[in-house]
Amino acid sequence: MTRSEPSPPYRGRFAPSPTGDLHLGSLVAALGSWLMARAAGGEWWVRIEDLDPPREVAGASERQLATLVAFSLVADGPVVRQSDRGALYQAALDRLLASGHAFECHCSRADLAATGGIHRACVTDRRRDQPAVRLRVPDGTSVTFHDLLLGRQQQAVDREVGDFVLRRADGPWAYQLAVVVDDAAQGITDVVRGADLLDSTPRQILLQRALGLPTPRHAHLPLVVDANGRKLSKSLQAVIVDPADPLPALRAAWQRLGQSPGAVANCTTTEALLQAAWRHFDAGRIPQSAPALRRDAQQSFHDGTLE
Ligand SMILES: [Zn+2]
Repeated sequence: MTRSEPSPPYRGRFAPSPTGDLHLGSLVAALGSWLMARAAGGEWWVRIEDLDPPREVAGASERQLATLVAFSLVADGPVVRQSDRGALYQAALDRLLASGHAFECHCSRADLAATGGIHRACVTDRRRDQPAVRLRVPDGTSVTFHDLLLGRQQQAVDREVGDFVLRRADGPWAYQLAVVVDDAAQGITDVVRGADLLDSTPRQILLQRALGLPTPRHAHLPLVVDANGRKLSKSLQAVIVDPADPLPALRAAWQRLGQSPGAVANCTTTEALLQAAWRHFDAGRIPQSAPALRRDAQQSFHDGTLE
């Protein structure tokens, strides 16, 4: 990617939600983001995205962090939890409301059924005690960005997403707002994550623009499914991310990133494996088996439209 000025120092991150133990898909994102950071001579931070308590599993974030340590994937900065950061999100929301980029919305999901859940204008006269807050997406809003792994990406956010939720009517902060605020506050320069979040990136770019924040570089890693959404071979599916026996899962994640199995075959410790992986990593080998940008019903949590 061409830049007109020197790049800032590289700081990447891994940001799991504590909805269960780490699985191979999340390990691919952790290892991939760690390798991209190390290959760039940069830092790798960890953030716990615990915004939705009903979806979370007690103790999961502690087990996730302990598992990362067992895999020798150790954060270079402080580990923060989104549940501690509501004041930051509120300040950003207040700015968006004051600038007119955001508005209160009393519509229910049923009110928006006729438009497939896409909000273009408020359609109810009802008033809730606590309305949702949405970002206004003007007609004609299209976002284009360059993904370091997938190339040019574009989304017509007005037609494909609509005005999107920043704070839900039932109270929780939407993922999109929290991620944008945290990435800026933590000085994240590079977002490397699973391609299941590709669909969120145009919304996050719109929020960065509305808040006057820099947009990080993006790279979306392949999911642990094939291009048609089918599960991978049993040999990869069967890999258990076991903190007591980390080498098989690290090798499987390395393989899923398209890297040469032989480069890490003889390593007998996690430290040795990661050092070898760092030396041999080639981002150009990462498979580009990501889904195209499109709306997906499974994205409803990240839309923040659950009601
Ligand atoms: Zn509305």
